[in-house]
Amino acid sequence: MEAEDLRVLIRSKLDDGRLPYNSMPRFWGGRGNGQQCAVCEALITKQQLVIEASMHTDKKPTQFHVKCFYAWDAERRAIAPPGYSIFAADIAPSTSTRVSYAVGDAPGA
Ligand SMILES: [Zn+2]
Repeated sequence: MEAEDLRVLIRSKLDDGRLPYNSMPRFWGGRGNGQQCAVCEALITKQQLVIEASMHTDKKPTQFHVKCFYAWDAERRAIAPPGYSIFAADIAPSTSTRVSYAVGDAPGA
């Protein structure tokens, strides 16, 4: 699937709730075993790596191809409505608004 097609698909799934806007606080990786990818819906084969992610420990994890997981993560950050947790502890803010806000808060600024 082309990157642009993947983005369009992710946006439509975010829009109708098939994919979450919220970050998944727990995720882990491993070898695929025929799981269905939540993004592209293709099977994740034994030759591929799977990322399994979960919003809650008691919930069934969601499976992604590695590249689909990254595409979902980038897309949800780009279009998440205000109020959604987009948890980005280890990734610098990407919007110019946040960058200028951070600069304004800096000591001595
Ligand atoms: Zn996929």
